[in-house]
Amino acid sequence: MQYRKFGNTWYKVSMLGFGAMRLPMLPDGTVDFDKATEIIRYAIEHGVNFIDSHHFYHNGQSEEAIGRAIKGFPREKLIIQTKIGMYNNYTDQQCWQLLETALKKLDTDYIDFYLTHSLRWETYLKHNKQFMNFTQKAMDQKLIRHRGFSVHDSVENMKKIINTGEFSAMTVQYNLLYRESQEAIALAHERGLGVVVMGPVGGGTFGYPGETLLSWIERKEKSTAALALKFVLSNPDVDVAISGMSTLQQVMENIETVSNFSPLTKDEIKKIDEIFQSRKKLLNLYCTGCRYCMPCPNNVNIPSNFHWYNVAIVYGVEKRAHDGYFALKPEQRASACTGCGRCEEKCPQKIPIREKMKEVAKYFEKK
Ligand code: SF4
Ligand code: SF4
Repeated sequence: MQYRKFGNTWYKVSMLGFGAMRLPMLPDGTVDFDKATEIIRYAIEHGVNFIDSHHFYHNGQSEEAIGRAIKGFPREKLIIQTKIGMYNNYTDQQCWQLLETALKKLDTDYIDFYLTHSLRWETYLKHNKQFMNFTQKAMDQKLIRHRGFSVHDSVENMKKIINTGEFSAMTVQYNLLYRESQEAIALAHERGLGVVVMGPVGGGTFGYPGETLLSWIERKEKSTAALALKFVLSNPDVDVAISGMSTLQQVMENIETVSNFSPLTKDEIKKIDEIFQSRKKLLNLYCTGCRYCMPCPNNVNIPSNFHWYNVAIVYGVEKRAHDGYFALKPEQRASACTGCGRCEEKCPQKIPIREKMKEVAKYFEKK
């Protein structure tokens, strides 16, 4: 395993983190604690020291699974991060209860990084004073070591939050498909925040086999997941990438990728980007996912159809695209478009939606 210094803190964090939001499940929808324990322990035994959770992952069973799995490991060797959603308008008492429950489930005396979850500038203005006051009390009692935030806002707002100087760590999305956060990541690193990347494999997109994508690049990679993880970790401003792992095989593969990690060079990244750009041009489909075209009177999910088409044609992960397209209800698929044209005038990208819907339906359904 390889490690990086975590912002201005004294932690050395494993470049692969365990995201405990996709743990193995039993048929009744609860966490399979035996399997979860096995894979978390395997990860720790092979050098992973960063574990990420939230009190609502798996209906509260994620923190419990971590608590069970870490028994017997020296606590000071592990870095545990969990979160609270302040946007839920919790009272101070509820915040305190959630923290106490998290500590109990995690079976620990303290949490290394306690995050205000999915922070937006709006939520910051409304709830952050409360978060700071409550966490200060918890820090005084040594129940929390550091504060952080996870974020899904615009880059400008991310920067505003970073510049408040109130946080030691940021968890943010960043991957081959989504690069917008790169500027915020650079600023966070510069300001001494530990940077955690969530969704390194693009919400699972690159967890699928993507022979087409791999055939476009010179570098020999075992899988698209390995390529995606390496892409994220090639950014020196990123400290750790958390992967939501469900099977021992995934854990083993990710550990192998990170242990034998050599960063992608600037030229390699440039080449991958050029391929994506040229394929985007070829497809001539610049859907931003803004949803201004929605709702469609016939229930066609326009942006999702375009997203899966892009995943296949631009990013070369055809199996994922196929599964994503057919996970849409029949009336949401491109083939259900009647060609009424109502969506087209609302599209700021001036996409000929009717024509493109025919193209998407033909590609996926051969009709
Ligand atoms: S043209 Fe097709 S996608 Fe657009 S609004 Fe009409 S039915 Fe929906
Ligand atoms: S309005 Fe245009 S760009 Fe926006 S989601 Fe619809 S098709 Fe995509």
